[in-house]
Amino acid sequence: MPPMTTAIIMHGAAGRMGQRILSLAADNNDFSISAGVDLKPGTLRALGVPSDAPLVQALPAKAGSVVIDFSHATVTPGVIAHCAEHGMPLVIGTTGVSPDEQAALIEQAASAIPIIWAPNMAIGVNVVFEIAARIAKTLGLDYDIEIVEAHHHHKVDAPSGTAYGMSDAICEATGRTRSDLVHGREGHTGARTRGEIGMHALRMGDVVGDHTAYFVGGGERITLGHMAHTRDIFANGALRAAAYLATQQPGRYTMKDVLGL
Ligand code: NAD
Repeated sequence: MPPMTTAIIMHGAAGRMGQRILSLAADNNDFSISAGVDLKPGTLRALGVPSDAPLVQALPAKAGSVVIDFSHATVTPGVIAHCAEHGMPLVIGTTGVSPDEQAALIEQAASAIPIIWAPNMAIGVNVVFEIAARIAKTLGLDYDIEIVEAHHHHKVDAPSGTAYGMSDAICEATGRTRSDLVHGREGHTGARTRGEIGMHALRMGDVVGDHTAYFVGGGERITLGHMAHTRDIFANGALRAAAYLATQQPGRYTMKDVLGL
């Protein structure tokens, strides 16, 4: 029997991520492209994607295809409603929706479709989240944790969603919350409090994305880092998530499920 291919519909097809995901899918026999969706008219070929699949301006209702959304926070809720209505599994990489709204939207859709929404789809990053959580839980509060991220000088928000992903994983594993985060100390801050997690953002040049967690105490230091060299790591993770969801029952999934962590 030939291996099963995963049919994808790319929402945000003309975007930086959309184009990379489509190009990688076109080069991979495990995937077929059902359609690209974007605001701009044109063809996938004109975008440089070697595929005859159509580029359309509205999300089609195509059972059997997994939708991948890397578009804009304002339109992702509509994408979720459409996919839930038409029974299409959904991988969301779009960021910028508040955590509360995101949780409510996923909750609603998960009874109808398999859905995953990850702030960082990179496989290595998600492995690092898991290891960071394990280290923090094992070391306990006697070890100070500081997270430092670095990005290119165009990035407009700080700290990055990935830095929050790292701190969230640590908080979840150790009974802490985002109220334990201390952002970029300055001035007379007083001594460090037990259990706080320092968050620091560097902005410089063309750095794609570096994340480092320090665990320091008892005369020793553990440094756990991830450096992104190319945005393709997110595209590859999104495709792996799409292949995973294609065979799942409705429900909420995470990159931990996708990677079997
Ligand atoms: P981009 O601006 O290059 O692309 C977004 C695309 O979505 C554009 O082509 C735009 O025309 C399209 N779009 C906007 N509204 C639309 C609509 N109503 N219908 C159809 N298409 C629409 O952005 P990008 O760099 O590709 O990033 C997209 C999103 O993915 C951002 O939220 C970004 O933060 C996020 N992102 C997530 C990850 C991850 O791993 N989760 C990685 C990289 C980027």
